[in-house]
Amino acid sequence: MTDFITRFAPSPTGQLHLGHAFSTLTAFETAQKADGRFLLRIEDIDTIRCQPEFEQGIYDDLEWLGLAWETPVRRQSEHFDEYRAGLERLMAMGVVYRCFKTRKEILEDIGRAPHHPGEGPEGIIYPGPAEPLSADEEAEKIATGEPYAWRLSMTAAQARLGDLSRLTFQEIGEGPNGETGVCRIQPELIGDAILARKDIGTSYHLAVTLDDAKQDISHVIRGQDLFFATTMHRILQALLDLPVPVYQHHRLLTGDEGERFTKRDRSETLAAMRAAGANAADIRRQLGFDW
Ligand code: GLU
Repeated sequence: MTDFITRFAPSPTGQLHLGHAFSTLTAFETAQKADGRFLLRIEDIDTIRCQPEFEQGIYDDLEWLGLAWETPVRRQSEHFDEYRAGLERLMAMGVVYRCFKTRKEILEDIGRAPHHPGEGPEGIIYPGPAEPLSADEEAEKIATGEPYAWRLSMTAAQARLGDLSRLTFQEIGEGPNGETGVCRIQPELIGDAILARKDIGTSYHLAVTLDDAKQDISHVIRGQDLFFATTMHRILQALLDLPVPVYQHHRLLTGDEGERFTKRDRSETLAAMRAAGANAADIRRQLGFDW
């Protein structure tokens, strides 16, 4: 047994499709070849959108595909206290701030800025407020119950860590623009991202980074759509002093017309294929896995 540990980390917000099958088979097969461990993690922090029947569907689909994983499965909804503790460490460092602005207000702010890059691969690039809120203004907003999110301040993170663009990670797959090998992160494409929504108390970025460390993940194997999210994860690892896994971003599977699979595409779900009499070995072969 090597120290190789990887995971498949789906969110139970819909049924799995062929793209998920490709991702999980890639992670599983890579672990098998490395004589390593394969974990399944349920990323269900969004307790409104995540549904028990979709979680059950994940177990059914993966079993049908011929995969085996270690139990107990880590379910993020059972670990909000750990994400809160992580956020509190970041608060104590002064690298996160409360943002009371709505999406519309942020877009208006950005529209007024003369040289703003606009939209990045992860959505709107928010460069942070022109003026931070005063302690009094903030206290008043909190007292009136105005909703807010916690954002990472790239400026404060940089003050603490030094030039962020010098942080790197090892990419053994490929980013969407062919990025591979030792990759530098690109904080300018992300801006001050949300680390905790008020209603959820955490975010994908925070939970995934803490969990990968907690579960000793040595290799993060996932789709290229998450390549740029690695910038956030790498900064959090540096701030929270966490180990940095190796990353392997794989190509995204597309349909006959070159379109990406989405959870909304009901016809292409694994459950629908199974119900229509598809055979798991044929699906594996179709996706390029010969076993
Ligand atoms: N939960 C994420 C998703 O379903 C994947 C997380 C990851 O692999 O980093 O897109």
